[in-house]
Amino acid sequence: MFSLSFPCSCEQKHHTAPVKAVEVSEHAVEKVPEILKEYHRIFLVADENTYAVAGKRVEELLRKAGMLSHSFVLPADSLPTDTNVGRVLIEAGINREKFDINAFSQLPDYVLAVGSGSVNDICRMVSYRLGLEYGIVGTAPSMDGYASVVAPLIVGGKKIVYDCTIARHIIIDLNVCAAAPYELLLAGVGDMIAKYVAILDWRLARREIGEYYCENIADKVLEATRLCVASAYNLKDRSIETIRDTINGLILSGLCIAFSGSSRPASGTEHMVGQTWEVMDIEEGKKPNLHGIECGEGTFMAISMFKRLYRETQDAELKAMIEEFLPLFDEITEMQKVVHLPFTVTDKQRFIEGVVRGRTFRVRYTLLQYLYDRGLLEDYAASSFDEIMVENQ
Ligand SMILES: [Zn+2]
Ligand SMILES: [Zn+2]
Repeated sequence: MFSLSFPCSCEQKHHTAPVKAVEVSEHAVEKVPEILKEYHRIFLVADENTYAVAGKRVEELLRKAGMLSHSFVLPADSLPTDTNVGRVLIEAGINREKFDINAFSQLPDYVLAVGSGSVNDICRMVSYRLGLEYGIVGTAPSMDGYASVVAPLIVGGKKIVYDCTIARHIIIDLNVCAAAPYELLLAGVGDMIAKYVAILDWRLARREIGEYYCENIADKVLEATRLCVASAYNLKDRSIETIRDTINGLILSGLCIAFSGSSRPASGTEHMVGQTWEVMDIEEGKKPNLHGIECGEGTFMAISMFKRLYRETQDAELKAMIEEFLPLFDEITEMQKVVHLPFTVTDKQRFIEGVVRGRTFRVRYTLLQYLYDRGLLEDYAASSFDEIMVENQ
């Protein structure tokens, strides 16, 4: 299903994701010892929720196979904070039977994250800092970070995105995912519809500032998104086929991040604003909403702004570029009438603040910069709020 390496006509000439194996199947959990057979001291990390649905079973299997070093279980719903990264780092060392003042901690030979959000981001950072390979047993189709190369962490109360390495093994048990809370399934859809905007932003950046662009990667992401949008209609049924389509889309999108070497193909205007709303919650000491839910709302906002720009611009080339995406945007709007992704930022001031601050969330040229340079950003933010709130009442 997934090619992990392919030649390309773009300037990179070849794309590779250093992933050793991707396993998406029913009862994939049972295959973990076989997939990870080259490791002997596996450090398993989960949180209370993911331990209950998959971690405990994986632990049992690894112990039986003589491959488990030890496990560490974080409290339920732990955030990817510096504190939690520190806790996992502390727990990573293997306890020696006899303390030796001259010796450094003995380390495991592999970090295995069981979970789909924070646990992954924490383990990605810990394994990277320790120079260990790591893998993921995914428990929900809630985001496209399975094959991500970055870890967004909350450090000193601020959200900072760190470059890391990619998971060497991605193991997704469809039965476990099918039983995930519905909110997490919706979050996965929210993170995927974002890609239509992300690719259009990427094209805009190629045009405006000559940024590198790969047609093949963009096409793969659009294809993955189509798959997810189509499967979203049946998400409530939780059929294995629907969950598989969603997961495959999320993984492919994540792999494209690895192929291009940046999150550009998967994250544009909508992620910059969605993540800013997350940051605003963090700054106020509140628990942020699910990543995919914020980015889903950000997607509707971005679509509304792109459509207005399409109506108002005198630039024929830009108009044609946006026009190509209008049918894709319609796909999402139609889907939303049935699926009802929730909107969590419903206060106009807060919404606009997220848009304005989102422009500088990271160094990335998007629609936000295009509008800002023309003095249009705040006005567009306000009109998009009015439009999407009416449409989604
Ligand atoms: Zn390419
Ligand atoms: Zn995302």
